[in-house]
Amino acid sequence: MAVERHEAVVVGGGIAGLAAAWALRDRDVVLLEAEDRLGGRIFSKKREPHWMTVGAHFIGGLDSPVGQIAEELGLEKIKAEGEMATVWMNGKLVRGGRFETYPFRLPLSLGGRISLIRAGLRLMMANRRVRRIIDDPLHGHQGFDGETVEAPGDPKLDGKTFADVLGKLHPQVESIMRTMVNRVTAETHEMSGHFGASVVGNLWADAAMLRETIPGGLGEVVDAMSARMGNRLVTGAPVDAVEHGPDGVTVRARQGGEDITIQADYVIMATPAPITRRMVSGLSEDKAAALDAVRYGPYIIMSAITDELGPMPYDDIYMVGVIDRSFCMFYNLMNPLRKAGQPRTPGGAINVHTGANQAAGQWDMTDEAIRDLYLADIEEIFPQTKGIVSEAWVHRWTHGYPFWAPGHLNHQAALARPEGRLHFAGDYVGYASTGPTSHSGYIAARAVRKALETA
Ligand SMILES: Cc1cc2nc3c(=O)[nH]c(=O)nc-3n(C[C@H](O)[C@H](O)[C@H](O)COP(=O)(O)OP(=O)(O)OC[C@H]3O[C@@H](n4cnc5c(N)ncnc54)[C@H](O)[C@@H]3O)c2cc1C
Repeated sequence: MAVERHEAVVVGGGIAGLAAAWALRDRDVVLLEAEDRLGGRIFSKKREPHWMTVGAHFIGGLDSPVGQIAEELGLEKIKAEGEMATVWMNGKLVRGGRFETYPFRLPLSLGGRISLIRAGLRLMMANRRVRRIIDDPLHGHQGFDGETVEAPGDPKLDGKTFADVLGKLHPQVESIMRTMVNRVTAETHEMSGHFGASVVGNLWADAAMLRETIPGGLGEVVDAMSARMGNRLVTGAPVDAVEHGPDGVTVRARQGGEDITIQADYVIMATPAPITRRMVSGLSEDKAAALDAVRYGPYIIMSAITDELGPMPYDDIYMVGVIDRSFCMFYNLMNPLRKAGQPRTPGGAINVHTGANQAAGQWDMTDEAIRDLYLADIEEIFPQTKGIVSEAWVHRWTHGYPFWAPGHLNHQAALARPEGRLHFAGDYVGYASTGPTSHSGYIAARAVRKALETA
């Protein structure tokens, strides 16, 4: 059996692992990825001049490592200017205006309106607590610097569920809240109050910040990194076991039907928490407990290419929250291409997705059945889409999104902490988005570099 030696091995070729390998590319580093492609939950396909994506669509922060890498690689960035605070409910598309006006504009019963106002006030108060913590410059995480991953939260809100924070809801408002949280693959009673208040409360504020993408899709960043790093990024190489000791780490993997063993000075684990937990032996008790506590929900997503010849009613919209249909979000992926004053080019691309219990309920359906179900609902919302979808790509993510369950903050420090020669990166380590995730890879790489230089 072949035994290789390297200074550093990165396990997992999502953006966390890629950012780590990129930051160590002047050293003796190799990245092992199980699948035949790199990118993990960044997964897009070009359909010139459009693109499809079943993973991340916006760069999670231009000042983050992934944003900086895109800059360094000379990739063009474009901005979505379309509306984000748009909701479809009971046959009505409510668009524009402030979120606070929605209790009066959505098609709700009187009881529903009162319930939404009450829940909205509770949410606003909780979100104020959340913002006080995450906007605190002392935490520094938003500047993507520092030596550790910072993911602060409000301890009081962390101790309860988001359902507790919202209080008793009218069924119509329950549907609205479910739609808002299913996009992060959880239900209101599964996630902590801190997580829910930040995900829903920041929806429009964050959406306004996260609007930059790359023409061709975020897979362009992955392809450009891969072109620069060449054969140091090894695909089709699933890692089975990682054993660490005081003098080094042994990585056991398979490649082309052969077992391979790599001896490394340091290893960066950049796989989702349950996979990391399964692969690594000899973890300390609190680290193992922290990895066990990370929760993910499922996602089902469909990306579709459309062949319209003229304008569509969603040209000025980027995102629509869809209440009580087979998916919870609709996206007009090509909104960044539609610029005021410029001619509207033919064709486009749209996305819909759902998560949590709704995705679980659809999990056993065939891709064709899911496509038909989603297309029928898209057509109800936008009848102009009838007969114009020329390609549809359905994808399922088992580990869609790591959400924070109540009590998450008790584990935060252990999640980010290295164990001897092992370092940990990934979206579960801090905040789940490509920006903070790439930052977790950079932090791990920085620590490995320091250790190598000291040695
Ligand atoms: C549908 C969807 C939309 C999203 N939209 C956005 C967005 O617009 N903006 C944003 O910033 N974020 C978005 N996100 C979140 C973002 O995509 C993720 O937070 C981020 O990509 C996760 O990166 P990661 O490297 O931690 O994990 P992953 O991307 O999951 O990478 C882990 C890698 O490890 C590999 N692996 C697993 N097991 C093994 C093994 N045994 N051996 C070797 N390799 C292994 C996997 O194949 C995978 O490639 C979205 C996520 C989803 C699912």
